[in-house]
Amino acid sequence: MEKFEVTILGCGCALPTIRHFGASQVVNIHEKLFMVDCAEATQLQFRRNRLKFNHLGHIFITHLHGDHFFGVIGIISTLSLLGRTSDLHVWGPTGIEEALRPQIDIFCPGLSYSVEIHPLDTKTHQMVFEDRSVEVYTIPLRHRVPCCGYLFKEKPLLPHILRDMINAYDIPVSQINNIKLGMDYTCPDGTVIPFTRLTTPADPPRSFAYCSDTVYKPDITQYLQGVDLLYHEATFSDEEEQAAVRFYHSTASQAATIARDSHARQLCIGHFSSRYEDENFLLQQAQAIFPNTVLARENLVIRL
Ligand SMILES: [Zn+2]
Ligand SMILES: [Zn+2]
Repeated sequence: MEKFEVTILGCGCALPTIRHFGASQVVNIHEKLFMVDCAEATQLQFRRNRLKFNHLGHIFITHLHGDHFFGVIGIISTLSLLGRTSDLHVWGPTGIEEALRPQIDIFCPGLSYSVEIHPLDTKTHQMVFEDRSVEVYTIPLRHRVPCCGYLFKEKPLLPHILRDMINAYDIPVSQINNIKLGMDYTCPDGTVIPFTRLTTPADPPRSFAYCSDTVYKPDITQYLQGVDLLYHEATFSDEEEQAAVRFYHSTASQAATIARDSHARQLCIGHFSSRYEDENFLLQQAQAIFPNTVLARENLVIRL
């Protein structure tokens, strides 16, 4: 099966600690890398995880808070030092052009490639990007500043070819793609072999949603139904629900409730408050509502 995996580069919150890096993840879909959020030191974490800069085409920023954004200019600068020539696309809320372009002008004159900045409307759920393998949608969130999450939906896959059958009927390689697309094969003697005998059904397409930072917002579950992996912030424990409301963040139970009501397959919680030395009690609170929950941690890779 082609790759669809999420690497967590950082899962801390706004106040830096030596326990966590700031928010950033990389989604690998069929060997194309999509970064979501980019805190300070993200490029170091990117290297630590042996991810390939030349496979990184897009950076999706959820909101213009430093713990999600301060690393962007560092990566842009490094990519130029590495001699990149292909465009880099940076997506984020309205205002991202004004936040990023002056930094590029000051720190990266003579950039070896072009940075395309795409301001987004964070209030609507819409498809903002697609290529051959994936569609990316915004998820409207509510935070202290305009903020959206992102939903990555793999496009339907082609069925698997049964090699033994192909060999048995001596089918030429040139016909394989047609068979995958659902065409029957006609042998030289006129016998028609239905494509269903030559293939097994495609794997179901996979999906990943990233929801951070946000106050508890139950209406987002309409966009998340059946998602394979949901990353949802759980900055605070249930005991700190009032703080969560005040700072526009979520608790562990609230994250789990979103996962449960979305019928997600798996939940990963993160964006942990710097006040906690050990997040396992957040995990317990979330698992009480949604058992298939894991704690985010740096360098964790989740395969879908
Ligand atoms: Zn944050
Ligand atoms: Zn924030």
